[in-house]
Amino acid sequence: MENCLFCKIINKQISADIVYSNGSILSFRDINPVAPTHVLIIPKFHISTLNDIRNNHSNILGEIMLAAKEVAAIEGIAKEGYRTIFNCNKNAGQTVFHIHLHLIGGRSLGWPPG
Ligand code: 5GP
Ligand code: ZN
Repeated sequence: MENCLFCKIINKQISADIVYSNGSILSFRDINPVAPTHVLIIPKFHISTLNDIRNNHSNILGEIMLAAKEVAAIEGIAKEGYRTIFNCNKNAGQTVFHIHLHLIGGRSLGWPPG
Protein backbone atom coordinates (compact mmCIF):
# COMPACT_ATOMS: atom_id res chain seq x y z
CA MET A 1 0.00 0.00 0.00
CA GLU A 2 1.24 3.47 -0.89
CA ASN A 3 2.58 5.49 2.02
CA CYS A 4 2.84 2.47 4.30
CA LEU A 5 6.28 2.36 5.91
CA PHE A 6 6.38 -1.42 6.17
CA CYS A 7 5.15 -1.92 2.59
CA LYS A 8 8.10 0.30 1.60
CA ILE A 9 10.44 -2.02 3.54
CA ILE A 10 8.89 -5.02 1.74
CA ASN A 11 9.38 -3.25 -1.62
CA LYS A 12 12.98 -2.33 -0.64
CA GLN A 13 12.25 1.40 -0.97
CA ILE A 14 13.45 1.65 2.66
CA SER A 15 16.24 -0.54 4.00
CA ALA A 16 15.96 -2.74 7.07
CA ASP A 17 18.16 -5.17 8.96
CA ILE A 18 16.49 -8.44 7.90
CA VAL A 19 16.69 -11.37 10.31
CA TYR A 20 14.53 -13.96 8.54
CA SER A 21 12.31 -14.00 5.49
CA ASN A 22 10.33 -16.48 3.42
CA GLY A 23 7.70 -16.28 0.68
CA SER A 24 5.02 -14.95 3.01
CA ILE A 25 6.66 -12.98 5.80
CA LEU A 26 9.54 -10.62 6.53
CA SER A 27 11.34 -10.18 9.88
CA PHE A 28 13.64 -7.25 10.58
CA ARG A 29 15.14 -5.46 13.58
CA ASP A 30 13.15 -2.67 15.17
CA ILE A 31 14.86 0.68 14.54
CA ASN A 32 14.32 1.62 18.22
CA PRO A 33 14.90 -1.63 20.14
CA VAL A 34 13.59 -1.96 23.69
CA ALA A 35 15.63 -5.09 24.44
CA PRO A 36 18.75 -6.86 23.07
CA THR A 37 16.47 -8.69 20.63
CA HIS A 38 13.59 -6.67 19.18
CA VAL A 39 12.42 -8.01 15.84
CA LEU A 40 9.26 -7.16 13.89
CA ILE A 41 7.55 -9.90 11.89
CA ILE A 42 5.16 -8.77 9.16
CA PRO A 43 3.08 -10.28 6.35
CA LYS A 44 4.39 -9.39 2.88
CA PHE A 45 1.01 -7.88 2.05
CA HIS A 46 -0.84 -5.04 3.70
CA ILE A 47 -3.23 -5.54 6.61
CA SER A 48 -3.66 -2.38 8.70
CA THR A 49 -4.59 -3.69 12.14
CA LEU A 50 -5.68 -6.87 13.88
CA ASN A 51 -9.24 -5.57 13.49
CA ASP A 52 -8.84 -6.02 9.72
CA ILE A 53 -7.95 -9.71 9.72
CA ARG A 54 -10.39 -11.99 7.93
CA ASN A 55 -11.04 -15.74 7.94
CA ASN A 56 -8.78 -16.16 4.91
CA HIS A 57 -5.87 -14.64 6.86
CA SER A 58 -5.56 -17.61 9.21
CA ASN A 59 -2.65 -19.07 7.21
CA ILE A 60 -0.58 -15.89 7.31
CA LEU A 61 -1.16 -15.51 11.04
CA GLY A 62 0.12 -19.05 11.52
CA GLU A 63 3.12 -18.22 9.32
CA ILE A 64 3.90 -15.21 11.51
CA MET A 65 3.94 -17.38 14.64
CA LEU A 66 6.11 -20.01 12.93
CA ALA A 67 8.49 -17.24 11.89
CA ALA A 68 8.60 -16.06 15.53
CA LYS A 69 9.85 -19.48 16.54
CA GLU A 70 12.53 -19.33 13.82
CA VAL A 71 13.62 -15.83 14.81
CA ALA A 72 13.89 -16.83 18.49
CA ALA A 73 16.10 -19.76 17.47
CA ILE A 74 18.24 -17.56 15.19
CA GLU A 75 18.67 -15.03 18.01
CA GLY A 76 19.54 -17.78 20.51
CA ILE A 77 16.78 -16.80 22.95
CA ALA A 78 14.33 -19.69 22.49
CA LYS A 79 15.28 -21.51 25.66
CA GLU A 80 15.58 -18.45 27.92
CA GLY A 81 12.29 -17.08 26.62
CA TYR A 82 10.87 -14.06 24.86
CA ARG A 83 7.62 -12.17 24.35
CA THR A 84 5.45 -11.67 21.26
CA ILE A 85 3.06 -8.72 21.00
CA PHE A 86 0.61 -7.31 18.47
CA ASN A 87 -0.34 -3.72 19.33
CA CYS A 88 -3.76 -2.75 18.00
CA ASN A 89 -4.78 0.89 17.65
CA LYS A 90 -4.46 3.81 20.03
CA ASN A 91 -4.69 2.31 23.50
CA ALA A 92 -2.03 -0.27 22.68
CA GLY A 93 0.22 2.38 21.12
CA GLN A 94 0.15 1.14 17.51
CA THR A 95 2.08 3.64 15.41
CA VAL A 96 2.63 1.74 12.14
CA PHE A 97 -0.60 0.57 10.54
CA HIS A 98 0.66 -2.61 8.85
CA ILE A 99 0.27 -5.48 11.31
CA HIS A 100 3.50 -6.55 12.94
CA LEU A 101 4.37 -9.00 15.67
CA HIS A 102 7.01 -7.64 18.06
CA LEU A 103 9.41 -10.35 19.24
CA ILE A 104 11.28 -9.09 22.28
CA GLY A 105 13.87 -10.88 24.38
CA GLY A 106 17.46 -11.14 25.51
CA ARG A 107 16.65 -9.81 28.99
CA SER A 108 14.12 -10.43 31.73
CA LEU A 109 10.81 -8.74 30.85
CA GLY A 110 8.43 -7.21 33.37
CA TRP A 111 4.80 -8.26 33.65
CA PRO A 112 2.20 -6.86 33.36
CA PRO A 113 3.30 -4.47 30.59
CA GLY A 114 2.60 -0.75 31.11
P1 5GP B 1 3.95 -0.18 17.04
O1 5GP B 1 4.14 0.96 17.99
O2 5GP B 1 3.11 0.23 15.85
O3 5GP B 1 3.44 -1.44 17.68
O4 5GP B 1 5.39 -0.56 16.52
C1 5GP B 1 6.01 0.06 15.45
C2 5GP B 1 7.47 -0.20 15.59
O5 5GP B 1 8.10 0.12 14.37
C3 5GP B 1 8.15 0.64 16.68
O6 5GP B 1 8.71 -0.22 17.67
C4 5GP B 1 9.20 1.43 15.91
O7 5GP B 1 10.42 1.57 16.63
C5 5GP B 1 9.38 0.63 14.65
N1 5GP B 1 9.76 1.41 13.49
C6 5GP B 1 9.25 2.62 13.14
N2 5GP B 1 9.83 3.04 12.00
C7 5GP B 1 10.72 2.08 11.64
C8 5GP B 1 11.63 1.95 10.53
O8 5GP B 1 11.72 2.79 9.64
N3 5GP B 1 12.38 0.83 10.50
C9 5GP B 1 12.31 -0.13 11.46
N4 5GP B 1 13.12 -1.20 11.34
N5 5GP B 1 11.47 -0.04 12.51
C10 5GP B 1 10.68 1.05 12.59
ZN1 ZN C 1 1.68 -1.95 4.50
